[in-house]
Amino acid sequence: MVADDSDKIKTELPYASPVQPVELGLDDEIQFNCHKGVACFNACCKNIDIQITPYDILRLKRRLGLKSSEFVARYTTPFAMDFHNMPGLKLNTKPGTSECVFLKEEGCGVYEDRPAACRYYALGSMGVRKKDSAAVEDIFFVVKEDHCLGHQEPRTLTVRQYRSEQGCDEYDEHNRAWRDVILKKRSSGPTVGAPSERSLQLFDMCSYDVDSFREFIQTQGFNEVFDIDEATKKTLIDDEDQLLEFALRFLKQVLFGEQSIPVKPDARDKRLARRKSKPGPQGDDGDDGPDAAADSP
Ligand code: SF4
Ligand code: SF4
Repeated sequence: MVADDSDKIKTELPYASPVQPVELGLDDEIQFNCHKGVACFNACCKNIDIQITPYDILRLKRRLGLKSSEFVARYTTPFAMDFHNMPGLKLNTKPGTSECVFLKEEGCGVYEDRPAACRYYALGSMGVRKKDSAAVEDIFFVVKEDHCLGHQEPRTLTVRQYRSEQGCDEYDEHNRAWRDVILKKRSSGPTVGAPSERSLQLFDMCSYDVDSFREFIQTQGFNEVFDIDEATKKTLIDDEDQLLEFALRFLKQVLFGEQSIPVKPDARDKRLARRKSKPGPQGDDGDDGPDAAADSP
């Protein structure tokens, strides 16, 4: 699978090329089928350029029995998503090849938990915010690569049916808040300035390291700032899907001041008192993560 057809699509999830220049809705039909009997079986997995999403990591780390940081270190390569170096990850290939690290002779080695981009393949998707509208709308395109014979298979189905068959809905649901963050960051443009180093670190953790985020919400610093009851915290600790959803809400609060997590009224005073009681340069206690969210409008 190859991406990078246009700058706009390059930063969307998932993305691919070459994109047919016809915008499709959920009820439009496509002609496509992919099965083990096609002559090109596995061809698309031999030339990949796949951006990894937060929910991809959740599914794959669980399948492989790894911590999120272990999965990222073993199976992904970092790249800069934009001119502000927003951190992105691409799925690794086998050494010296363009072949997916999970490809086996018999097909995908992680099929039930394959990334969103693999599920979408044959379709490209873009979230667009139309002029004068706050809502993000999904539009779709057919992606036709020469090696893919699936487009010649005698089967038609709607975009909606294809997405359902491939399990795209579940992935989109879990990744939607993340896509919103990326879209919002990009649409704000360079005038708002580069995110701080700490914001980039929080983006990285909330997006790609759910295990570290689980530890983070149990730190004194976090709990001094945020008003989360014990039952909710236990749910978050035990349920990774909900933890990811919470991490992305936290990210929106930190980056854009979208307040959805209650902040304790005395949070700022307590933090300042704790900083003052510590040695070292004033205002630097080495644990300033939640401050941005507490201070945000
Ligand atoms: S994860 Fe599976 S489907 Fe996706 S590129 Fe790799 S082998 Fe192919
Ligand atoms: S039909 Fe297309 S998607 Fe299916 S294996 Fe062949 S190249 Fe890959």
